[in-house]
Amino acid sequence: MGALASVGAVREQLRPVASHRASEPDPNELAARSPAGRVLVLNASFEPINVCTVRRATVLLLKARAEMIERGPLGLRSERALHDRPVVIRLVAYVRIPRDVHRRKITRKAVLARDSWTCQYCGAERGALTVDHVIPRSRGGESVWENIVASCAPCNRRKGNRLPREISMHPRTAPRAPGPTVFIRVASPRIPAVWEPYLAQAA
Ligand SMILES: [Zn+2]
Repeated sequence: MGALASVGAVREQLRPVASHRASEPDPNELAARSPAGRVLVLNASFEPINVCTVRRATVLLLKARAEMIERGPLGLRSERALHDRPVVIRLVAYVRIPRDVHRRKITRKAVLARDSWTCQYCGAERGALTVDHVIPRSRGGESVWENIVASCAPCNRRKGNRLPREISMHPRTAPRAPGPTVFIRVASPRIPAVWEPYLAQAA
């Protein structure tokens, strides 16, 4: 059975690309072979900055603007060479990421991910989590990262329109704009295991 499986694996590796036009690997074929269809992009400093498609990653690799850090298990034969499916790539040149890039994208999902899906008032995990304005909008609170936290529904109701000091409900962690790792987690429903070490290092 094991021998049969390995023969199958070799056949899978050597199967030619049906629709390739040039000597380069067909990005669509590469994408189809990637379970998540996504590639983690690291800055030259190894900080995770983005998620891109296999097609985009392949272009960056072919242009030598990125290097392969982690590759998928299956190669792909083209006329020139056996190409590996990128899973993690690293940009050759360091890209400055302005912190402001992420400030605009305040979504419920991103707030909950930043706060590890934990109510910032009572510490409850899971359940019906909402987002709460620490300083209520009716009291002049703004819709900015520094004023929005994850809150369970009971805490949100209890706090109502009051200021934190009026009801002694203070966020456990001072809210702030999250780094790119949070957006990578929000953008990827399933985080491949091979990405985790890079994301953990940055968190
Ligand atoms: Zn709570």
